[in-house]
Amino acid sequence: MKTRSDDAKGAEMSTGRPGEGAEVRDPLRHIKPSVRSIAAYTLSARPAGVKVNQNENPYDLPEAVKRRVTEKALARPWSRYPEFDPKELLERLAAFAGWRADGILAGNGSNELIEALLLVTVGPGTRVVIPEPTFTLYALLTRVLGGDAVRVGLGPELEYLPDELRRIRRELAAPITIVCSPNNPTGGLLPAEEVARLCAESDGLVVVDEAYHEFSGQSVVPLLARHPNLVVLRTFSKAMAMAGLRVGYLLASPEIVREVNKARLPYNLNFFSQAAALGALEEWDALRANVERIVAAREDLLYRLYRVPGVRPYPSKANFILFELAEADPKAVFESIYRRGVLVRDVSSYPRLPRCIRVSVGTEPENEAFLTALRHALEERRFGRP
Ligand code: PMP
Repeated sequence: MKTRSDDAKGAEMSTGRPGEGAEVRDPLRHIKPSVRSIAAYTLSARPAGVKVNQNENPYDLPEAVKRRVTEKALARPWSRYPEFDPKELLERLAAFAGWRADGILAGNGSNELIEALLLVTVGPGTRVVIPEPTFTLYALLTRVLGGDAVRVGLGPELEYLPDELRRIRRELAAPITIVCSPNNPTGGLLPAEEVARLCAESDGLVVVDEAYHEFSGQSVVPLLARHPNLVVLRTFSKAMAMAGLRVGYLLASPEIVREVNKARLPYNLNFFSQAAALGALEEWDALRANVERIVAAREDLLYRLYRVPGVRPYPSKANFILFELAEADPKAVFESIYRRGVLVRDVSSYPRLPRCIRVSVGTEPENEAFLTALRHALEERRFGRP
């Protein structure tokens, strides 16, 4: 039964002013100040006929693979936990990536592994060197853990500045540096020889997020054998066409993997996703053909974007393209493109990108629809129509 004082407490709490009177208690005061001050990772999740806002694969996993995975799942009791260590998957990943199975950790998306890695390395005041702009999760989780995200700017063409990265890392004796390569949202690559130099210069961990590596033709996995401070993150969400099933993996020395594993939640990878990941690996030849189609479409889209007046695209080694608008307001252009059924990503709130939009490479008709919508949007702006 509710008492009067319960009601009173509720009313007082809703004022949001902690510390007024004996009964007033704002539960939010128990949240770490470092967390209260962070803006959440958000996404404008709108329905759209052409969805090119999340760097997903426009080509789904082949139907035959989906059926095989579903049959495997049906033949198994759902009342039982998945494997504690997904041994078969780790072995298959080892063969696929060219690294040892005991140096691989599978996760519920690579997001989970970024979190596990930061959980075991970052505490209050830990300095984490992170280029800017990049994938927002690294700095967000660093700050949740009380660490200090030290940002290193990109160059005038939004390219990585390896000398600057090395200088800041050296000056701070930073225990951890995170580089997304190809970088989301700019599409730029940090050359493998620069990653090797970073690794060789100090024992600080160098984390390379290779979420988009299949589209770039570069991987730093071969460097793992020589650099015990290198950690590589990969995902099944992009080239492997499995964003809906949340599978990622981390590659590092077995010693580092053993430590990161301590922060991984038990049974993090459900059996359905494990089976799907195995299925996708078996289907790599077909998936790779789609990657090649996406890379060819990216180059075509880039070329065509160069020819749209008022648009400056940045070359990309990933499955998306960042472009800058010379005059038009990116928010208005985003909305105008959306009204034509195409959902892109407004990245104008990112540092250094106040005039930018990011578009994922889609199928040919999707890319066509996007270009038409963009041209219309810019014309609308030019002639002052809403
Ligand atoms: N890293 C980067 C650079 C990404 O862009 C993304 C997805 N947007 C991820 C990691 C997360 O991937 P996953 O779906 O495996 O959690």
